[in-house]
Amino acid sequence: MGKSTPFWWEDAGTPTSPPTQGLPAEVDVLVIGAGLTGASAARTLAASGKSVCVLDELAPGMGASSRNGGMVGGGHRLSYDELRTRFGADMALQLLKEAHIDSSIFCEKLIAEEQIVCDYKQTGRFRGFWLDSEYEREKKSLDQLQALIPIDAEMVPREQQQRHVASDLYRGGVAFNKHGGLNPAKWHNGLLQAAQRHGALVQGNTPVLSTEALSVGFNVYTPRGTIKAGQILAATNGYTPILLAHLKRRIVPIPSYIIASEELGEKKLKELFPDSRMIVESREKHCYFRPSPDGKRIIFGARAAMFQCSDEFAKAQLTGMLQQVFPQLGSIGVSHQWRGNTGFSFSFLPNIAKQDGIWHAMGYCGNGNTMAPWLGHKAALQMCADSEGESAFSNTGLPTKWWHRGKPWFLPAADLLYRARDIRANLKR
Ligand SMILES: Cc1cc2nc3c(=O)[nH]c(=O)nc-3n(C[C@H](O)[C@H](O)[C@H](O)COP(=O)(O)OP(=O)(O)OC[C@H]3O[C@@H](n4cnc5c(N)ncnc54)[C@H](O)[C@@H]3O)c2cc1C
Repeated sequence: MGKSTPFWWEDAGTPTSPPTQGLPAEVDVLVIGAGLTGASAARTLAASGKSVCVLDELAPGMGASSRNGGMVGGGHRLSYDELRTRFGADMALQLLKEAHIDSSIFCEKLIAEEQIVCDYKQTGRFRGFWLDSEYEREKKSLDQLQALIPIDAEMVPREQQQRHVASDLYRGGVAFNKHGGLNPAKWHNGLLQAAQRHGALVQGNTPVLSTEALSVGFNVYTPRGTIKAGQILAATNGYTPILLAHLKRRIVPIPSYIIASEELGEKKLKELFPDSRMIVESREKHCYFRPSPDGKRIIFGARAAMFQCSDEFAKAQLTGMLQQVFPQLGSIGVSHQWRGNTGFSFSFLPNIAKQDGIWHAMGYCGNGNTMAPWLGHKAALQMCADSEGESAFSNTGLPTKWWHRGKPWFLPAADLLYRARDIRANLKR
């Protein structure tokens, strides 16, 4: 069956908790969750002179941050037109700029400044279209985007897509030349270590059980004692616990499933991914795949189901989709299989805000390798009342639905809906 742990941990090591230390009685800021958001926020807060304690109920990184696809590069699920209709032209532009440009520049600087060794390479990313009709629409959208912000991207007609991926499945696509790939477990590890170097205390296996608002600050209750915190940042995204009831109703944990193929060798991988790009697609299944950093295996992820399905079902779905992309491979051995939760907002946009005194940064909708560190940093600056913390993502809001009380009971139904959409799209092909 192969291993049920992320392939990334082979090289980065299994996430482990830092040595246990006594919890402080009082801190300026308590961060709940030690993924990319929490680590980045803690780094910025500690560097600004705040006393910071980051608590995670598991080993830091065990959430999505050390198990994701390792694809790097900004972007939105929403087009400029959709953003403009919702928020007006100025804010749409700002949202695009932060997501496509600022967050990437920030993370590249972070990697360089903190000397984070995480196999980062600016490989570029190709997004393949499922339908012929998407090409002209997406071309207009890219033209519009490039007139607004400097994005190094180009349309790739169907006849030329084999430059990027040895598959006939797509109907052309768009190539984002500045996107890249990394080992997410190393990325998260490096960022967490940077936060610790700046003075943040990080403790794993320490769930926050509840919080109590005081006249000034909060009591934060854990099984290891109570911490008085001046401020709290919730950085729990797709693992948001019920104690953060307001957020639990607003962030939907949608699982994403990944496999790593057995070693296929560098020559074969070069045939499949001629310029080593990250590949994503426009279909509802959202397949995302790439060569491993050592260029020997395929890492292949997708929405095998929108709910927690069995490993057998997930593997069958993923290998089926992988064979559909690369039929020339025949049957493919799988060495690793794993899953993690993405955190979707109903607006399809992330958000930073303060609700009932508690700050949050979350809702990355599956695109957090640059956005989570960026918005963790921005939230931290806002908590320090630093005007540099201004972000368009403070204005996106975090809507809920009356029928979502906290448990995502509706995901099996949503799964059927998305499968139906894929079937309809297949019929159009
Ligand atoms: C399979 C998969 C593939 C993905 N691929 C990509 C990709 O290729 N590119 C990309 O940009 N993004 C990708 N993402 C999204 C990206 O991984 C996330 O957006 C990002 O990691 C979110 O970071 P975070 O720190 O906000 O949350 P997480 O890393 O999920 O951390 C949240 C933490 O909160 C902790 N927590 C929860 N409750 C409590 C509590 N009560 N007390 C203390 N701690 C608590 C959890 O234990 C967890 O460690 C993917 C996600 C998944 C799941």
